[in-house]
Amino acid sequence: MTSPKTPEVVKKQLNIGPYEVHAIPTGIFGLDGGSMFGTVPKVLWEKTNPPDEKNRIAMEARALLIKSNGRNILIDTGNGSDFVAKYGEKLGSKFAEMYAVDENGPNLISSLKSHGLNPGDITDVILTHLHFDHAGGATSAASGKIAPTFPNARYYLQKSNLETAKNPNVREKASYFQANFQPLIDAGVLTYIDGNTKNFLPHISVIVSNGHTQGHQVVHVEDGQKQLFYCGDVIPTSSHIRSAWIMGYDLNPLEIIREKGELLKLSQSKETYFFFEHDPYCDMANVEKLNDDYKVKERFFLT
Ligand SMILES: [Zn+2]
Repeated sequence: MTSPKTPEVVKKQLNIGPYEVHAIPTGIFGLDGGSMFGTVPKVLWEKTNPPDEKNRIAMEARALLIKSNGRNILIDTGNGSDFVAKYGEKLGSKFAEMYAVDENGPNLISSLKSHGLNPGDITDVILTHLHFDHAGGATSAASGKIAPTFPNARYYLQKSNLETAKNPNVREKASYFQANFQPLIDAGVLTYIDGNTKNFLPHISVIVSNGHTQGHQVVHVEDGQKQLFYCGDVIPTSSHIRSAWIMGYDLNPLEIIREKGELLKLSQSKETYFFFEHDPYCDMANVEKLNDDYKVKERFFLT
């Protein structure tokens, strides 16, 4: 994929409460540019996100590691691997090609290793939702059968998202695969969260959003002075800060615009970072008001 003109990005070390926070790149992949930007014309989005010959734009699948003494919390898990074993011969053999998955760069396991962690060290995995590019790495076929990738972790998910994943509507059928969640159910490692929930882990809360899919949760990490929102697919890249820039994938466009507005409004109360799962250029950004809307102030890479 062509590499675009990269915007200016500042390096930043971030601690919130008892935690260090680190970006965990799980691999670049490609999604249709039109689907990523909905009704925004290509002449606008192609300036920052040049498409390949199949109209796909490069996206990261970026997890977040929240690390303290005794606790290693992971948010989302990227596309994962073992596609044939997990999705079957027909889909699995085409999957990496269809989504231009870069299987040679850093992945979930190697990125965790660079922070000195093995899969067995992860204590908690929070899943924003079960679409394959977020939950694909939650299970793995490395042991010969499909099982939780993190053998000692509790996994947290909105109950309503699991119900959607089990009976997906026709628009989302291609994004929810049983192999990414059934082994979690079978192993008894899932904890179901029902609605907005405060401090279910120390300093960590979730905010439900139904605009992208039913039961998506944004993860909120905060202390007295600072806060970070792991936006998932509510704000997938820094380009999506602007209220009209939403994805064609979103199930309820007006709802996602409202939910995004409410999230951005929370930035007014303290030092705030929005973490982007899919941005190809930066890990996170802070924002400033622009009339009735918001825009990116500074982009950051976490060290
Ligand atoms: Zn999604």
